[in-house]
Amino acid sequence: MNKKLNHFRYSQNSINTYKSCPFKFKYKYIDKINWKHDDIQSREYYESLKSGSEFHLLCERYFSNIPLGVNDNTKHDFVRWIEKIKDLIPISSEYTYLPEYEVRLNLNKSIIQAKYDLVIIKENEIEIWDWKTENKKVDYKNAENRMQTIVYMLLAKEVIPKLFDINIDTKNIKMKYYQPEFDTDCVSISYSDEKHNINKKNIISYIDKIQNTKYSEEQETYKYDLIKNKNHCQFCEFNKLCNGLDLDYSIFEEEVYGR
Ligand code: SF4
Repeated sequence: MNKKLNHFRYSQNSINTYKSCPFKFKYKYIDKINWKHDDIQSREYYESLKSGSEFHLLCERYFSNIPLGVNDNTKHDFVRWIEKIKDLIPISSEYTYLPEYEVRLNLNKSIIQAKYDLVIIKENEIEIWDWKTENKKVDYKNAENRMQTIVYMLLAKEVIPKLFDINIDTKNIKMKYYQPEFDTDCVSISYSDEKHNINKKNIISYIDKIQNTKYSEEQETYKYDLIKNKNHCQFCEFNKLCNGLDLDYSIFEEEVYGR
């Protein structure tokens, strides 16, 4: 295994990066190249990411039961959106709310981490919420198959009940994506023991691939060659570096937005 992976903490982002293109994983996590463009289009893109984080902060304050700090400078959309969140999820004294909640799992000696926008622990139920401020609509199929859903639900089942010393049936774990920009309900993903076992197997398999890929010529022991997935280039920030081509930020957004 590459020694840079010795203390690596796996996340939905890093596993998803390898899944998209192993070469991209090498750039980002082995070579640690932080590739950002400096043209107007990309500046607008990174501004939109920053503004998404500001909305997440308002949600964190609401569910922490502290003043929101909304003032005349707060973006009008955010004021509207946080009101929608309040209507959708009124705080009940019977439940436990954990905004910006981070958990870690030791899976076969590899550490996987996840940071949830919100976890709600109910009597017999765990709800995981994720706020999406991107303007592309999330649908059920896309949400169900996201690496984010797979990793978040796996950790919700494996870690959260143990931390709170509670017994939660797998079918009572739900992941909900909410897009305040749209006047639609959240996309709610259900879970089952069958899905959980498949997810666990898949994650173990991805970690095995990540750990046993040949990232450099000097690496003597490996199981997998380093592959470039050319089908992914148009979505990838390294397109300029690899192929000398510009990136379409309207497509790129969905790929990296997951936190
Ligand atoms: S540009 Fe293409 S080949 Fe290069 S890292 Fe990105 S996806 Fe992989």
